Amino acid sequence: MSFDILHIRHNFPILDVMVHDKPLIYFDNAATTQKPREVIDRLVTYYKKENCNIHRGVHYLSTQATEAYENARKSVKDFIHAAHPHEIVFTKGATEAINLVAQTFGRKYIHSGDEIILSQMEHHSNLVPWQMLAEQKGAILKVIPVDDQGELEINMLRGMITDRTKIIALTHVSNVLGTINPVHRVISLAHDQGIPVFLDGAQAVPHLTVDMQEIDCDFYCFSGHKVYGPMGIGVLYAKEKYLEEMPPYQGGGEMVDQVTFQKTTYNKLPYKFEAGTPNVAGVLGLEAALKYIQDLDLKKIHAYEHELLDYATVELLKMESVRIFGNAENKIGVISFLIGKIHPYDAGTIYDKLGIALRTGHHCAQPLIDRFNVPGMVRASLALYNTLEEIDRFIEATKQVRRMLG
Ligand code: PMP
Repeated sequence: MSFDILHIRHNFPILDVMVHDKPLIYFDNAATTQKPREVIDRLVTYYKKENCNIHRGVHYLSTQATEAYENARKSVKDFIHAAHPHEIVFTKGATEAINLVAQTFGRKYIHSGDEIILSQMEHHSNLVPWQMLAEQKGAILKVIPVDDQGELEINMLRGMITDRTKIIALTHVSNVLGTINPVHRVISLAHDQGIPVFLDGAQAVPHLTVDMQEIDCDFYCFSGHKVYGPMGIGVLYAKEKYLEEMPPYQGGGEMVDQVTFQKTTYNKLPYKFEAGTPNVAGVLGLEAALKYIQDLDLKKIHAYEHELLDYATVELLKMESVRIFGNAENKIGVISFLIGKIHPYDAGTIYDKLGIALRTGHHCAQPLIDRFNVPGMVRASLALYNTLEEIDRFIEATKQVRRMLG
């Protein structure tokens, strides 16, 4: 183990919580991660000492809060290596970022008969907004299939692209299978035809180093709460040229330049896309979260999580009745599985009684669950504060589930 896991665990107060008289094992990190003290303290300090609306007042608190908010934008820009701070738009989360692009880029560029390419492993958040747009515009959704290993059938993509393809919207990492998609290949194929690519990075940013210059996608998004930050804050990255061309998403304060009853002109980037009072505390909490993981060292975190994934996979597969969905060569610490014919919900209830929080059901990816022809899956998703000992307890619990229900 290359970093001090006990020290790290002490820094996450919620990990001391007892569940049904058992120490909590939190394996639902793909749904949301727990928060380190640095993030919690940042929110408290903001509300105790700094709270103010931004971009509006000339007084001390307002200018201080505005500066902190804009500095956080620069921190996010540095974290994902965007070219400019104004390519970072703060949203409620990944979901809002996707809706924003579907309803602005989509409104302007996608028309009847045009095509949007998605994949079979999309979270509903990167499916429904495009489906809504397609219904509004008479556009067509095309879907890259997933194979039995849980990898994209990427060889099919070239044949799916036509001169009506207007965007490819793809998850960087699957929240169900853990698969890390070959985004460089997708982007190079798409860019050869002049097609922009949107990547949903909600499950990637907590587990991979993401660099917008290196990936060269046109749009990217993630949620703060899945990367140890607060809920209600997320990021849309988009290349400047698209943000310039796209119409605004919501109307309201801050996104305007001049307003008359006859006509409104819009603010410069990124404010054109940030209508209304933003989630200042959320932005500062997100900045604290990104700093926290950078200080821990992203490479060490990723290596440690991989060690946990490998160990859990080997131990689970020692049980003959366990079937893991998602065996991609490149994957993050997400293990979706079933134990024999045991219904995922029944299994989840027993894990809960044993103090283990994991997720059961369709994981907001119903078409993918249908693809594997199962009623749902149990999902254990790992984070930097989980331990090998917790995995041992989880394996023991799995044996107990099998004994009780199998
Ligand atoms: N995309 C993926 C791959 C996800 O896992 C999630 C959350 N489970 C989302 C999008 C949506 O994120 P949020 O609910 O934070 O907007």
